[in-house]
Amino acid sequence: MSHKSSLLVAGGGLAGTEAAWQAAERGLRVTLIEMRPGKTTGAHRTDQLAELVCSNSLGSALPDRATGLLHHELRRMGSLLISCADECRVPAGGALAVGREAFAQRVTERLAAHPNITLQREEITSIPEGPCILATGPLTSDAFAETLARFTGAEQLFFFDALAPVVERDSVNLNTAFRASRYERGENEAGDYLNCPMNRTEYDTFITALLRAERIVLKSFEQAIESGVRAARKHFFEGCLPIEIMAARGHDALAFGPLRPVGLTDPRTGRRPHAVLQLRQDDLAGSLCNLVGFQTNLKFAEQERVFRLIPGLEQAVFARYGQMHRNTYICAPAVLHPTLQSRLRDDLFFAGQLAGIEGYAGNIASGLLAGINATRQSFDTPLLELPRTTMLGALMHYLAHAPADHFQPAKANFGLLPDLPGTERLGKRARAAACAERARTDLEAALEASPALALHPAG
Ligand SMILES: Cc1cc2nc3c(=O)[nH]c(=O)nc-3n(C[C@H](O)[C@H](O)[C@H](O)COP(=O)(O)OP(=O)(O)OC[C@H]3O[C@@H](n4cnc5c(N)ncnc54)[C@H](O)[C@@H]3O)c2cc1C
Repeated sequence: MSHKSSLLVAGGGLAGTEAAWQAAERGLRVTLIEMRPGKTTGAHRTDQLAELVCSNSLGSALPDRATGLLHHELRRMGSLLISCADECRVPAGGALAVGREAFAQRVTERLAAHPNITLQREEITSIPEGPCILATGPLTSDAFAETLARFTGAEQLFFFDALAPVVERDSVNLNTAFRASRYERGENEAGDYLNCPMNRTEYDTFITALLRAERIVLKSFEQAIESGVRAARKHFFEGCLPIEIMAARGHDALAFGPLRPVGLTDPRTGRRPHAVLQLRQDDLAGSLCNLVGFQTNLKFAEQERVFRLIPGLEQAVFARYGQMHRNTYICAPAVLHPTLQSRLRDDLFFAGQLAGIEGYAGNIASGLLAGINATRQSFDTPLLELPRTTMLGALMHYLAHAPADHFQPAKANFGLLPDLPGTERLGKRARAAACAERARTDLEAALEASPALALHPAG
């Protein structure tokens, strides 16, 4: 059997670590190259692998939700990162949220202890010869982004996401904020979230101040436009819109979005508030909370001034401010097969956000598939394509077949799955549950039928 026994993985984030693990477990000698701490991204804070840069939630864990289904698929396929997430789980209603430091530390330790993995701390600036997975993420270093733009021949696309602020839990006024989970669905009887309730007047005051607040100028984007080195497009990913952009779309947009009060009752009034800001535990110790869905690009001083108008946050101490950030990704339909293999070079794979996947769980899943397929390519065995009816299979199908001229990254969602005949008359939730059931069944069949998913005997 002819095979190359080594693999290089660039980027020690969510996708790169999962990919490295899968390949190493299948017998390849993996060199994982991570540029931190020598060079950082501006959003990462530590030198740990698999650092979560914003929310500490890997999405809903409910079995009939898109991320819940993806978690299930990852568990069934032996994902390292999902097992670490399960070990580091913190209460978050129906979501799979983790203590971010414990999670990153756990992943780092597992990779460091693997006999087939060598960690190299350096920035990669050119695409290496030989079997390789590129997973340098949305904040890929500039030098490497330039290399990628030259390699793919496609225009390099930019867009901007935004981070939500984090506050110290002790600084939240618990005489106003109340503990509860929406529809009492949490794990703690008392509720997993702190909820800051607003009446109509308080909401109006907040929205007015938010719309008038000063924002940070997006310098790198403006420079990219001016330099004319490459075309740059400014657009926001709809799932991560800054609240000031959302609020500008309509006075009540936030009350129907991140501040929606449904399923919550203020124990002081016995009524549903007009709007509610939810705070979710952000660390294992429970000393920090993030402002759920409150991504923002306001100037830091303005964040303090405006967010302290929210009842319960009058004295809030900010442990981290919200920020805008760059997002780099390739035009996947032009560059990738649904196996994550590059159309330009057989031994080159892409994974993670760089490949056009959004969301932590999706990025982990793409790393898992890239790790399996890079190994299979090395062992000259057919590459794996999961059924399109599974969430991972559907995501990969989307990457390879979405329209290239206006390609947008995608996160796990049921809209990517083929229709399920006979469910047309069902409500949205029931249809999702039926599709999730089909996905689980089809994955089991694929696991049974395909030795592709089994660990390859060490070569
Ligand atoms: C600021 C920010 C906030 C986000 N918030 C969320 C969120 O709340 N929820 C969510 O689901 N998704 C979020 N995302 C989207 C996405 O899920 C995460 O970015 C996720 O970490 C992407 O996984 P990845 O493996 O592709 O990249 P990363 O996890 O970023 O890993 C890439 C790694 O490559 C390294 N690297 C970069 N360039 C080089 C180089 N040239 N050489 C060597 N190493 C290099 C980086 O240091 C990094 O460690 C966010 C993205 C960003 C940028």
